[in-house]
Amino acid sequence: MRTQPLLELVAVGRTYTSGGAPLTVLTDVGLVIQAGEFVAIMGASGSGKSTLMNIIGCLDKPSNGTYRIRGVDVASLNGDALAALRRDTFGFIFQRYNLMSDLSAVENAEIPAVYRGIAKAKRAAHAGDLLRELGLGDRLQHHPSQLSGGQQQRVSIARALMNGGAVILADEPTGALDSQGGKEVMGILETLHSQGRTIILVTHDSDIAAHARRIVRIKDGRITSDELQPGGDGGGQAQPGRVVPDARPGVAVLGEALMMALRSLLHNPLRTALTMLGIIIGVASVVALMAIGNGAKQEVLERIQAMGTDLLTIERGPPNVRASGQVVTSFLPEDLPSIAGVPGVEAVIPETELSSLLRFGEQDLTITAVGTGEAFPGVHDWPVESGVFFSAEHVKRYAQVVAIGKTVARNLFPGGTDPLGQYVLIGSAPFLVIGVMASKGSTPRGDDLDNSVWLPYTTAGARIFGQRFFKHIVVRVKAGADMSAVQAGLHTLLMTRHRKEDFNIRNMADTIATANETQNTLTYLLAAIAVISLVVGGIGVMNIMLVSVTERTREIGIRMAIGARSFDVMFQFLTEAVMVCFIGGLAGVLVGIGGGLSTSAIAGWRVIFTVAPIAIAFGCAFLTGIIFGYLPARKAARLDPIEALARE
Ligand code: ADP
Ligand code: MG
Repeated sequence: MRTQPLLELVAVGRTYTSGGAPLTVLTDVGLVIQAGEFVAIMGASGSGKSTLMNIIGCLDKPSNGTYRIRGVDVASLNGDALAALRRDTFGFIFQRYNLMSDLSAVENAEIPAVYRGIAKAKRAAHAGDLLRELGLGDRLQHHPSQLSGGQQQRVSIARALMNGGAVILADEPTGALDSQGGKEVMGILETLHSQGRTIILVTHDSDIAAHARRIVRIKDGRITSDELQPGGDGGGQAQPGRVVPDARPGVAVLGEALMMALRSLLHNPLRTALTMLGIIIGVASVVALMAIGNGAKQEVLERIQAMGTDLLTIERGPPNVRASGQVVTSFLPEDLPSIAGVPGVEAVIPETELSSLLRFGEQDLTITAVGTGEAFPGVHDWPVESGVFFSAEHVKRYAQVVAIGKTVARNLFPGGTDPLGQYVLIGSAPFLVIGVMASKGSTPRGDDLDNSVWLPYTTAGARIFGQRFFKHIVVRVKAGADMSAVQAGLHTLLMTRHRKEDFNIRNMADTIATANETQNTLTYLLAAIAVISLVVGGIGVMNIMLVSVTERTREIGIRMAIGARSFDVMFQFLTEAVMVCFIGGLAGVLVGIGGGLSTSAIAGWRVIFTVAPIAIAFGCAFLTGIIFGYLPARKAARLDPIEALARE
């Protein structure tokens, strides 16, 4: 006496509403199936057998009526609970096997256990056992294309049994097989029945149906007869089948998801590589551009620092006014002694630069003539390499002497002639070369500092510039003196002397801050470009993943039929997208470092790699995977298993 049937359908109907007029496929189906029965559902093609089977297997839901499994109304179950039923209770066997072509026999059989959260070794062993029992011991590593139809169907039977398979649902399992293969499969089903499993078989073939103990006939969606076969007992001795290890379906088996993702990526390596390309370019450009930007910034800062950090520059023109048009004539030689008298000032020099023509013999050279004071080498820490710099006496006497820069010396006296003691013409005035300065390199803006000559400001004003006033004044502050106090002192002094603020005083800290800001802006700009390319790469990933979901709709349907939850499908596709971006990100970092290094080698730029941009770029790639993988993954997870299975 059984009080609660295994499966119970009460007045079940199914009406398809999608596309055109509603189509009622099942009407008022009432069916009770006890545990351990072997039932054949028979009917002509199109009579609704598969529809009924899908409802029984929880792939589909009745449009009306009630379906209870062990007394539980399936209408009260959510998607995950239904997936768990498909995974653990039901075992599907399809007419066309529905194996996954990329997977070996063992791997195909294993899938339901994957979704059950069984460890790899354990489930592989179990799958191997099942396949051996089904006579496929020598075909474990074969792929479906290497197996006959009957063998493939046996693999799919092993898969149905993987989690116990208390209820086997076989929809035309012999439909695609020759008579020999059909016999084998029916023999297996009989054995499974004798072991106590419940078998529900759908067929249009009465010979096949004859294997069952009970035959339910269906016509146009209605049950027309339901009878026990002669000798049939209606229900075998129900037994739960083998003991299945405890499931932990809540645990995301990350390792398995990664394996599946890797396999699917390797399945189409060219496409995978092209998909990754966007990410690789994005990440590589972030890494390389940031390193180049950092290098440039460091270079600029070092050059500024090389010019001396304890300098104050007094510029013409009011503060915070750029390129003031008015000519300010207020910096005069008379200012210098009083500036030198300000406490904390170590040395003061005027500086006036003018692009001039320098001539020696037949040679003309455009150089920068700098009118300055005798303290110039000390103020700028810029030593004389040979000869001497001009003295205070030279300045006082308006001496026509000049110290020349390294570049000037090289260009003017290429043959190794000693420049010292030679006379050069600047403008039309002859000057005696008395010193050659050490090399100082370029300014942050790239001007060659060594393409200059230095003259006493007195001589320069009288003979070359034609004016007494200076462009700017540079003050060197005593070591240990308070920079801002000196700056304030100079300000007070100049305000008293000039009676208006027609000057501005800049210190190196300001200059460095400004340069820093400029360089940072540049770096951010580069970063923005790089991020944009990363986003473009992400869109590429999304595009390909969407295509992939469409292509693999059937695979998704199969996975859902054998127990994957929506979450599992979602997780699989997300893992795939993230893996593309992860590997792409990794490759991008390598390409970026390589690109940065070769840029530095070829162009001679300095590149500085720091951890932050690399980590950020990599993190962005990872995030890109999640963000742009989400949409395709959700699309996959939302597929209706029936429709997905029906897809070619
Ligand atoms: P059987 O398995 O007995 O050959 P099915 O249950 O597959 O029959 O189909 C029964 C009827 O339902 C057929 O007329 C078929 O065209 C229709 N049908 C099946 N699936 C769908 C669907 N997804 N949408 C609309 N009609 C469907
Ligand atoms: Mg069918």
